[in-house]
Amino acid sequence: MDENETIKHDRAFPLVMLPTWFMPPFSLWRWIYVAVTGTAINYLAVRWALLKGHLTRQAALAAFAIGLTLWMIEPLFFVVLFVFFASSSLLSKLNAQKKKTAQDKAAKGSTRDVHQVLANGSIGLVMAIIYAIALFAVLPSWISHAAIFSSIAAIAAPNADTWATEVGMMSAKKPRWILDLHVQVETGTSGGVTLRGTTAAVAGALLVMIAGALIGMLSGLINLLVAKEWILVGIAGAMGFLASLVDSVIGATVQGTFQCQTCGKETEKRIHCSLPTRLVRGKGMIDNDVVNFLASAFAGGSTFLITALILAW
Ligand SMILES: [Zn+2]
Repeated sequence: MDENETIKHDRAFPLVMLPTWFMPPFSLWRWIYVAVTGTAINYLAVRWALLKGHLTRQAALAAFAIGLTLWMIEPLFFVVLFVFFASSSLLSKLNAQKKKTAQDKAAKGSTRDVHQVLANGSIGLVMAIIYAIALFAVLPSWISHAAIFSSIAAIAAPNADTWATEVGMMSAKKPRWILDLHVQVETGTSGGVTLRGTTAAVAGALLVMIAGALIGMLSGLINLLVAKEWILVGIAGAMGFLASLVDSVIGATVQGTFQCQTCGKETEKRIHCSLPTRLVRGKGMIDNDVVNFLASAFAGGSTFLITALILAW
């Protein structure tokens, strides 16, 4: 098999030729083109996020580095992350006022810090790097193909979780404890679930899945004329949604929950009413960022295993 065969195999129906600088034919101009467009797009996105208060300065730097790397590996990876970033940022700001009380429980506000960016984006980045290595080293094509679906799942997971949290907080009804649905908990409690929130999680996972499938089809990476590809796309979306449930279960069990010594409120904060809080449940080291990272890793890892098995069959 020569190099051209490999490319044809990977891009079944390239409707739009999007740039992938490390694919043959190599050229300096192509590399410059991808680097310049990637820098411009990511600069604008990050400027907007800083202006609107979606990201802290450090988070913006991390987002810029991740976004540029994803764009340069393959625009699909960037688009998927961008859909998550834009939709969840807008949703987070939507009823900032209404959910003020609920946010008092959460450790952080609606401005994302660098830990949140890394917790939500690093598995998607790892999958993109696996994709790049598989192409560069001319490894069997099921590896690069499975990496595409895994990165979609790894980003669908935090999108589902963010949508569930944001829409769930708007619910008039109190959330129920995921480990015992008969028990009601305070709005904003990790491990609390609502019907509206769960429906939003499905929608959030679907949005990222559809965005990934469309850009995948446009760039010839996912061939939706083949039934098998629909199944693989569906697995990515399903695992993204499932990961948001895993997120809730981990949130209810091992995530550290603290209680204020002064006002008695349960919170994820280490300090409340200007005094250190007391650990009442879970492990103190495991905060919401660790839980989100684990959920994204679950989505990406399980999707890689399942799709690789199907593709290598
Ligand atoms: Zn307090």
